[in-house]
Amino acid sequence: MKFFYYDIAVPIPIRETFTYKSKDAIRRGTRVAIRFRNKKMVGYVVKRLTNKPSFSTIEISEVLDDSPIFKSSHIEIIKWLADYYQHHIGEVFDTFCPPSLRKIVKIASKEIALESNHTFVTEDKNIKLTSEQSICLKELKKLKGFDPCLIYGVTGSGKTEVYIRITDHYLSQGKSVLILVPEISLTPQLEERFMNRFGNSIGIYHSKQTIKQRTDVWEKARSGDIKIVIGTRSSVLCPLHNLGIIIVDEEHDQSYKQHEGFRFSARDVSIKRAQIEKIPVILGSATPSLQTLKSVQDKKYKQFNLLKRANGSQPPGLIILDINDSKLESGIAEESLDAIEITLGKGKQVLIFINRRGFSPLYECNNCRWIAECRKCDSRLVFHHNLNRLVCHRCDSAFGVPTKCPDCSCSDLSLQGSGTERIELFLKEYFSKTIIIRLDHDTTKKKGALEKILNNIHSSKTAILIGTQMLAKGHDFPNVELGVILNSDAGIISPDINSLEKISQLLIQVSGRVGRKNAKGKVLIQTRYPEDKNLRKLRNGDYLDFALNNLKQKKELHHPPFSAVCIVRSTSPLAKHNVNFLEKIALSAGKDMSISAIGPIPSIISKTRGNYRHHLMLQASSKVTLNRLLKKITAATVLWKETKKVKWFFDLDPIDYN
Ligand code: ADP
Ligand code: ZN
Ligand code: ZN
Repeated sequence: MKFFYYDIAVPIPIRETFTYKSKDAIRRGTRVAIRFRNKKMVGYVVKRLTNKPSFSTIEISEVLDDSPIFKSSHIEIIKWLADYYQHHIGEVFDTFCPPSLRKIVKIASKEIALESNHTFVTEDKNIKLTSEQSICLKELKKLKGFDPCLIYGVTGSGKTEVYIRITDHYLSQGKSVLILVPEISLTPQLEERFMNRFGNSIGIYHSKQTIKQRTDVWEKARSGDIKIVIGTRSSVLCPLHNLGIIIVDEEHDQSYKQHEGFRFSARDVSIKRAQIEKIPVILGSATPSLQTLKSVQDKKYKQFNLLKRANGSQPPGLIILDINDSKLESGIAEESLDAIEITLGKGKQVLIFINRRGFSPLYECNNCRWIAECRKCDSRLVFHHNLNRLVCHRCDSAFGVPTKCPDCSCSDLSLQGSGTERIELFLKEYFSKTIIIRLDHDTTKKKGALEKILNNIHSSKTAILIGTQMLAKGHDFPNVELGVILNSDAGIISPDINSLEKISQLLIQVSGRVGRKNAKGKVLIQTRYPEDKNLRKLRNGDYLDFALNNLKQKKELHHPPFSAVCIVRSTSPLAKHNVNFLEKIALSAGKDMSISAIGPIPSIISKTRGNYRHHLMLQASSKVTLNRLLKKITAATVLWKETKKVKWFFDLDPIDYN
């Protein structure tokens, strides 16, 4: 009997592939059913071996796809990712597969659709491109092969319109287009604008869709029935037939990084994909990441600018509001309330940004200073008014609200500080006749809730919008004329390596939601640090100037993007297990002169779900050096007894440093 031998990636936490045999000739990228340690599982064919292995192998139980679901180029990307992030290759395959195909189900391949005539009205009657947009579009049409570029477009400069035109350009050549957005909250807006132009042959792909919806989009993209996919990070390898270009909107956004399981950056993966598929990739932002700006400086990326708002209005300047002597009502200063009242009086909308959900972030005993904390995590419990519960934002546990202090039995307990819910309730009372709309994780949980809220914002004239970063990103709310930023101070004084980059992006993005229809908008930043030099520099709203200065400092300090960082994170029910494990890594890293290891130290949230958390920061002069070290660590840890006592992972190119 003649057998073929295959390397199969199995979705388990082991980095190697496994060899199986089959009588069938199977193409790489095909899913197969296999037995692994007596369990039936899905495996992915990575490659066919040329020789019979010297060890004995078991037979593949079943071939699941009649044509490969991963193309060769995607397998290349996945292999690269598994190596770069030092992650289990089977899980990387799983991440980029719709959930339905991670199970043992057979699928028949669909015919590739014939090229359909595409019906876009290029000369859209209502919109004449500004001269900046025209120049930008002309340059974009010249991109060829792997050609990454940044569109630095101030907020409201009409980037979306440029995306629409370049999409049209590619569709007219029979190509398809992938558009990535950082947040689910941005898909409805982009979807609507693209639908208006291209009809409804657009696929939307994100985690809040049903498994069936996602599978459907994925398959239609693969067969060529859908030529435009708009999606969040998990769609970055969506197998669009004949992909022509990738557009990454709001490229700076931290939501592109996955925070659990396989921790990849979809922005970085999109660039790798473009490189391997030899196509252009557009990174658009009003607040580009330092990493992207460095690539422009290094002449690896081109840069095109949209420096004016499309309708001629100016982005608002930022007004620093010193609240040290102000009276605060639920966290809002009197001066802010006055400004809100004036704006509402003009029939306009107000946007209030606070990066904290729930009613109040602190429940405290005024006698002994006991603070309500999660039993399993060391994080403080947040009071949620509508649930009448104290909720842990780490593990979602909810607890009853004690009326007496558990430590001293005193009943003098109080709620300190405000979140979105408290501000909503306060403003509902204060401006009782005004429509108040809250947009955060809690108000958008139900299916369809987000769309309803966004519609509500667009259809109501006068209103107060309250929200977390979900509200601050990318939206086009024409009627907002005042922005109030309530709690930026934590970001301003944070010692984190990348805190300046984050806070400057946030402030500029919030201000970008304001005054989009006309020039009269303004943004108030409530702060206890009115003299802060960075706040003062950002006041005029010139992000690029600020960021390039910041980049210069990063260079002097050898901080990323001028060096590479990986944080090794370890959790265990016993703190000493973490410490022993991470110390062993630090020791082996310390032998390498080009690496610096800082730690191990307890993480800021030092306990979650009953487990202690520690981390070790590894910094190297280059990504190549760091990758070499990570490989060495991966290989070594397999043999250590310390490894068995912890759960650990690499957080490469981290966003949170603590
Ligand atoms: P950005 O994504 O850069 O923040 P948008 O694409 O949302 O900006 O555009 C901001 C607003 O300007 C939108 O309401 C859009 O319809 C409008 N707009 C875009 N381009 C033009 C143009 N050439 N002429 C008039 N209005 C435009
Ligand atoms: Zn007490
Ligand atoms: Zn908890």
